[in-house]
Amino acid sequence: MSAEKPWEFDTLALRAGTARSAFNENSEALFLTSSFRFDSAAQAAARFADQEPGYVYSRFSNPTVTMFQDRLAALEGAEACVATASGMSAILSTIMGLLSAGDHIVCSRGVFGATVQLLTTILPRFGVEVSFVSPTNPAEWQAALKPNTRLLFVETPSNPLTEISDIAALAGIAHSGGAWLAVDNCFCTPALQRPLDLGADLIIHSATKYLDGHGRVLGGAVLGRRELVMDGVFKFLRTAGPSLSPFNAWVILKGLETLRLRMEAHSTNAMEVARWLEGRRGVERVYYPWLPSHPQHALAKAQQRAGGGIVSFQLRGGREAAWGIIDATRMISITANLGDTKSTITHPASTTHGRITPEARAAAGITDGLVRVAVGLEAVEDIKADLARGLPA
Ligand SMILES: *Cc1c(COP(=O)(O)O)cnc(C)c1O
Repeated sequence: MSAEKPWEFDTLALRAGTARSAFNENSEALFLTSSFRFDSAAQAAARFADQEPGYVYSRFSNPTVTMFQDRLAALEGAEACVATASGMSAILSTIMGLLSAGDHIVCSRGVFGATVQLLTTILPRFGVEVSFVSPTNPAEWQAALKPNTRLLFVETPSNPLTEISDIAALAGIAHSGGAWLAVDNCFCTPALQRPLDLGADLIIHSATKYLDGHGRVLGGAVLGRRELVMDGVFKFLRTAGPSLSPFNAWVILKGLETLRLRMEAHSTNAMEVARWLEGRRGVERVYYPWLPSHPQHALAKAQQRAGGGIVSFQLRGGREAAWGIIDATRMISITANLGDTKSTITHPASTTHGRITPEARAAAGITDGLVRVAVGLEAVEDIKADLARGLPA
């Protein structure tokens, strides 16, 4: 018999990882249980000793969480996936699971604010040092490598400027230096970009964003080869405990079913908003990878299937103008979250990136006039009309 053709992305998003209980339910079950029963003391001993497969305790594993992990692994083309309580705990678990005191990380300057905080204020206390480099200049990454560099960390597109990093080039640099490349794939999701196919070793997700996609729960995940994810990250997670709750896993699992449809719709709306903003008075510059004016437009087209949902723009008039357009909105939600079906608007300099130093902010290009919109799935005419309220006529 010939091998069956593997399922396409859309089929995997609905069916990969499904495990049915004795009731043969069609929709995935939510297993709200902290522990699992054993038939005997001998079975309990065997499960604890890893001599027999099976569930023990939901800090280690849970069937609903396993379904989410298996489905996301299928979508990213990964051998293994471990779910975490949030995106930040995915980053923390990766570093705690794979690095030791004395190790060095090279990190893009264009990463999430809390990631910068973690790398600069917490990890140095445990002997892990970090260098920050340009997201768009691979030569800087090469030059920053040291004999003790173990991890290169990048987010592409970056938050909030949507800078694009060359994943294949950074993977080559990492491997030449005996290090791993981790890609935070939050903005694209596997529907638009698959970093492992481009040579990355690890993928980080904040499932809080597009994977859930409806702004409901926190969650995260780490994906990659089995030895990195299971022997490294999972061993830390099962002991330290930043595990994903089964309830959140169930919510995100159902979110995955519509991931590609949503990402395409977000991208279509975002492209329309970006084009429209580019011609407006008061707007100095628009950042969106699918605009031909974007400095890494060609790389984005080669690496991604669409532009994604995040549009940032620089207003003339600094913070006053930025707060002005935000406060003039009546429909778009003023909130720091992104990846929701509802459009959200943020002033990065005073919120998501408010805790990093003004110098670091300036180096990352996050000026006072910058506004970030996570374009949602409302009618695009309504989104544009809401943004137009705070712009010069
Ligand atoms: C939100 C976010 C994180 C952190 O995720 P949480 O789920 O909020 O902990 C990490 N990386 C990126 C790119 C994000 O947008």
